[in-house]
Amino acid sequence: MVAVAIQCCICGDNIDEDAHKFDPCYLEINTNITGDEEQQLPQAFFAHYECFKGIMAYDGHLNLEGQEAYVANNYLRAGKYKEAIDLYEKLLPIAEEPEGQQFILPNMIQCYKQLNDVAKQKELLEHGLELCSQGHESAGIYYEAAASAYASDDFQKAKDYIEKSKKAKEDDDDDGSDYTLEIFSAELALHLALDEHETARLICTEWLDEMVAYIPTSFEETKSANPVNACIQYLQDAELMYRLAESDFVRSSTPSIEFANKGLAERMRGNDEKAYKAFLEYKRILREQIETRGEDFEGYWKKLKSDKPEVSDFHIPDPDDDVPTQILVDEYIERYGK
Ligand SMILES: [Zn+2]
Repeated sequence: MVAVAIQCCICGDNIDEDAHKFDPCYLEINTNITGDEEQQLPQAFFAHYECFKGIMAYDGHLNLEGQEAYVANNYLRAGKYKEAIDLYEKLLPIAEEPEGQQFILPNMIQCYKQLNDVAKQKELLEHGLELCSQGHESAGIYYEAAASAYASDDFQKAKDYIEKSKKAKEDDDDDGSDYTLEIFSAELALHLALDEHETARLICTEWLDEMVAYIPTSFEETKSANPVNACIQYLQDAELMYRLAESDFVRSSTPSIEFANKGLAERMRGNDEKAYKAFLEYKRILREQIETRGEDFEGYWKKLKSDKPEVSDFHIPDPDDDVPTQILVDEYIERYGK
């Protein structure tokens, strides 16, 4: 990755990237850290990991080695499933305690799901369920079992596993994972699958009552609107779609989506002219955003239209057969934009 030679600030030699798996390291010094901000000067250096370790009087606080699980989780979150699974495959055999294995297994199943390896998913899920039956229950494994049952249209079984997952989560609050949004999505999807449409509608209404005025503070938080959005689409409830569109939640986090959702709502009502206008506005705002970032909008748009979404658990079927909204938008612009 590094094209020019990088010199170690401690020994003065060049840093060979392959000498140590952590090399090259980047060190930063900030002066006067307890003083006035104006006096705090930052400067950065490169160093060999071993050199840095060598000059520390006490390296007991140095906490970088043996962090493969942390790196694997980073890869998983970043969607680099191949890199993640390579690390997990090394970690699983050395996780001696069943609890340690139960910690890794759901993440591995997620990786194999995205990598489309059904046999490995099945094998690891069975392993996890076996550990559950021996008393090492895991919210993550039950969740994966539910997702697997849902994918094979066994909705009642999926529901039972979701209940077990919630129970396991309650019993063991510090297993490090948080399945709140996953469980929420799962329950919503299951209500639809089990024809409990009014219950699903009620959950969406309650979510809106609680969240319309809320302004999300992270990308993670904005994701909680996705299952609600999908559920409203499924129910073809124009009223709820409008509420979602006009919420502070949507307006503040993804301003263009306000108009995409309004377009969808008008389309549900059969107001094609109004839908067209909203879709046009959606595309205009999105173009503005993308071009402000200095990116090519046409390329970005084309990618949105052709992107295959990641494999998702508890997928709520789309009345438009999962045609990307951007394709609908262009159809409306084509048809009504004279
Ligand atoms: Zn050095």
